[in-house]
Amino acid sequence: MITARSLTKCYDSFTALDDVSFSFPDAGIFGIIGHNGAGKTTLLKCIAGLIAPTSGELVVNGIDVVRDPVALKATLGYLPEESRLYETMTAEDYLAFFGEIYGIPKEEIVVRTRRLFAALSLEPDGKKLGEFSKGMKRKTAIARSLIHDPKFLVYDEATSGLDPMTSRFIAEYLKKLKNEGRTIVLSAHNLFQVEAICDRVMILRRGRVVASGTMKELREQFGSITYTIWFSVADPSRIDRREVPYREEDGYLACDTGDMAGLNACSAAITEAGGRVERIESRYPSLEEMLVAIGK
Ligand code: ATP
Repeated sequence: MITARSLTKCYDSFTALDDVSFSFPDAGIFGIIGHNGAGKTTLLKCIAGLIAPTSGELVVNGIDVVRDPVALKATLGYLPEESRLYETMTAEDYLAFFGEIYGIPKEEIVVRTRRLFAALSLEPDGKKLGEFSKGMKRKTAIARSLIHDPKFLVYDEATSGLDPMTSRFIAEYLKKLKNEGRTIVLSAHNLFQVEAICDRVMILRRGRVVASGTMKELREQFGSITYTIWFSVADPSRIDRREVPYREEDGYLACDTGDMAGLNACSAAITEAGGRVERIESRYPSLEEMLVAIGK
């Protein structure tokens, strides 16, 4: 469980996090989203115990992060937005280096490294980290965050700048980590991916929480459903555009309406004009549309 109460972080006179409260249960993926500068990285660093909040309470797995940030290190893995790797090291040496910092026996480090590389489809082939592709570097950083088998993971933009295949692979891997019982807090600008993998999402705007909940709860809070009626008609001039405000799309005519009454009225007008309703789609706003609606 990760619980924050009235968390505030100021950089001199600038308030980057302002009275942030939330509670994330265990074994889930929690997405923190928001525009650039909203405070996502600041919050993740606070959760990881890397920076101290100015005020407020933050408890991860029963550990008071504000009072005892070091106690958290054994149970938490952090992936920074840009992980600078040691370019002249091999991936194996890199993981061994961090494994030793965590006090893991050498033989165990070798076993864990092999297991992590296999799970991440990472084949270093003896290359130095400086010769790795961006995707391989990110996978190595993820493996590093997992070498001590932490229960909590804090990932800042795990897939940013990666090709769609690698990005998707990592997203799927995060789901596997969750299914193993780990709790993941992540930030991401890829909102499509956040919708796909996160159990709960929190939206930050200028350091404040503007919304938090499951995707279903956010949809209910943020927007109404849109029904789109796709139809065909021999003579479109028979349809009153004030009654059925349609557009042409993909060879069909389409009209949006926000409720059942509108849907029924449009359908009746289309039928009356000799037309035929081909299909009806319903759609809730996407996270991207919610974020745009919230504004900077
Ligand atoms: P992005 O999506 O661009 O990564 P973010 O949501 O992660 O942004 P943060 O990096 O947490 O945002 O920054 C929040 C605000 O705090 C920004 O206005 C930033 O300029 C400011 N900030 C962050 N770190 C510091 C610092 N060390 N000193 C002063 N201001 C900072």
